[in-house]
Amino acid sequence: MAVAPVRGGGLLVVTTSTDLKALVEAVGGDRVEVESLAPPLHDPHAVEVKPGQLARLKAAALLVRIGLDHEPWLARVLRSLGDKRFVRGSPHYLDTSNGIDLLQAETPRVRPERGAHVHSFGNTHYWLDPENARPMTANILDALAGLAPGDRATFEANRARFLSRLEPALARWSQRLAPHRGTRAVVVHESWPYFARRFGLVILGALEPTPGVPPSPSSLAALVQKMRETGVKLLIADPYSNTSVVTQVAERSGARVVTLVPSVGGDPAARDYLALFDVNVARLVEAFASSR
Ligand SMILES: [Zn+2]
Repeated sequence: MAVAPVRGGGLLVVTTSTDLKALVEAVGGDRVEVESLAPPLHDPHAVEVKPGQLARLKAAALLVRIGLDHEPWLARVLRSLGDKRFVRGSPHYLDTSNGIDLLQAETPRVRPERGAHVHSFGNTHYWLDPENARPMTANILDALAGLAPGDRATFEANRARFLSRLEPALARWSQRLAPHRGTRAVVVHESWPYFARRFGLVILGALEPTPGVPPSPSSLAALVQKMRETGVKLLIADPYSNTSVVTQVAERSGARVVTLVPSVGGDPAARDYLALFDVNVARLVEAFASSR
């Protein structure tokens, strides 16, 4: 199939998320043009791909995805596309979970009788630990350089520049959250275990009894009771969480809700990968300050 180069001879890359788009842009710089299939404020496990996006994917030199069962919708997209380049092992296909130390992978959660659920092979929200940007951008560098060997030095320099900004930023975020290490929280969806591990938050439970499965009234009641008994004061929601359920649990448990931004572009200030963490750290610090 003819692959249309972008203007100036760069590579057209399609990603499954805005976070991957931001990381590909950080490494690819002006040698890439990147489009995300998922919008920033949407449940990443349930995305509707538009015909125009399918056409872009057809023209793309590289597809970049989170992998595991993070994008259950992608199999259908690739089936309808029928493009043999986008398969595991192909230079046109990159799964950035390669080399990531996955959390929650120890308990197989494949229970087809429970209906739609995700995270069956481990938690897929690994981009929310900024340290994971190192292996992810290493994977991206290799994939881009494989397709455009002449640009390898540029990609290497871009990645080095990105990592040199990541390091002081990580120190700054850790320092701002240091006084709050050990704070216990409940989440709506298990989007935050990597972030929590990095910054010392302790996640005691999730509203969803199984990732991707909405809570039942009895599971909610049990969770609220647990929150009251253990004195959990923080409830972390995602922008696409069910607001009425979140409000109900907050009211019944007495916990404060903070909505964190799981993807680049989910808040106007979260315009790139580093800014995403600036926004989330600021939201947490503000929530801690006003709950004293
Ligand atoms: Zn998830």
